[in-house]
Amino acid sequence: MHHFDYKHGALHVEDIPLSDIARDVGTPFYCYSSATLERHYRVFAEAFKAPETLIAYSIKANSNLSVVRTLAKAGAGADVVSRGELRRALTAGVPATRIVFSGVGKTRDEMAEALEAGIYQFNVESEPELQALSECAQSKNKQAPITLRINPDVDAGTHEKINTGRAENKFGIAWNKAREVYAHAASLPGIKIVGVDVHIGSQITALDPFEQAFKRVSELVKDLRADGHNIQRLDLGGGLGIPYAAQGQIPPHPDQYAAMIARVTGGLDVQLIFEPGRLIVGNAGLLVSRVIYVKHGENRAFVILDAAMNDLIRPALYDAHHDILPLAQPAPTAPYAPFDVVGPVCETGDSFAQNRDLPPLNAGDLVAIMSTGAYGAVQSSEYNTRPLIPEVMVHGGQMAVVRRRPSYEDMMAVEPMAQWLK
Ligand SMILES: *Cc1c(COP(=O)(O)O)cnc(C)c1O
Repeated sequence: MHHFDYKHGALHVEDIPLSDIARDVGTPFYCYSSATLERHYRVFAEAFKAPETLIAYSIKANSNLSVVRTLAKAGAGADVVSRGELRRALTAGVPATRIVFSGVGKTRDEMAEALEAGIYQFNVESEPELQALSECAQSKNKQAPITLRINPDVDAGTHEKINTGRAENKFGIAWNKAREVYAHAASLPGIKIVGVDVHIGSQITALDPFEQAFKRVSELVKDLRADGHNIQRLDLGGGLGIPYAAQGQIPPHPDQYAAMIARVTGGLDVQLIFEPGRLIVGNAGLLVSRVIYVKHGENRAFVILDAAMNDLIRPALYDAHHDILPLAQPAPTAPYAPFDVVGPVCETGDSFAQNRDLPPLNAGDLVAIMSTGAYGAVQSSEYNTRPLIPEVMVHGGQMAVVRRRPSYEDMMAVEPMAQWLK
């Protein structure tokens, strides 16, 4: 469910026509719906009955400060994977005691900063990291609260670039080494074991891989307790998928996900932690772009947009599907025809859709690339010296530019000319 609907023939975000925003801020731009963000958070949070459950929004999906603040106000914690994300979470008002720190390559500087902030836990992914964290904490006379991220060796059945739970991935500690590494962790003076962590991938649209993984880690919790470890928390990661096409496959509802988890982890008496990203923000955002040209080639017709792969890389990187809707509602009788929808960047991969049935479009028309709230703006670049596009947030009838479009002067100001070239 989201708050992007046609009203009086015009695509709106909450109470505002997107074409009004296009007129005010220019295209392309990302637009987020505050009500949708809040709703997605609430639906997920309400699926879990235990009051101590921590929902740590995965900042990497969309790290805009207003997005993070909206979720923090709704009660979310944060899952961060870098010092930058830690600072964003704190700046947006997420209490340190609701922040978890994930990632395979935390540096000692990052660990030090997170320890100083007093975060809730580190999800540790290797023995060298454990060693470094222990030393870092010891030098501050602290103990770092940790879980170990266990790689349960299940195949999430998702795209290979976002599959993280198989034995051959770089993530986590091998399933069969877990008890040994926990024993080592318990011997380190700067480490305090608090739980177990797992995250098997992203855009997972079936419950089965989750269930397999969660069964394995639930067994592990029992084994670790039998070994004498104090396991109080079970962090089950993120990864629950979203529908990307109006007519497409519908992933499990958070209520079904929660019911499965209650079944698998029931009786363990642990605090559950979740790190949803895409599920919260994916369908709460879209990208508005203007048609520059419609080009009729030999065998194909192209719609050339002013947005490109540098603004939204998901189709090029993951072969992702995004619905594309004209901002002006097509007449019910409009003749649909297949188009390739592409951007202006000099790469064949700069394509948003191939052979997509679209109503008639003309140069100057506006379209929305739907479901781009997650892994959209955060993965953008200035390739082809295209300025990062603005991000706009709508709240009922109000709108705010929550990230400005930089000027070309801003972009070049960070590139001082080498002194011998001046
Ligand atoms: C990316 C990531 C998430 C969020 O994944 P989504 O699919 O966006 O829910 C959660 N935890 C970890 C460790 C991640 O790397």
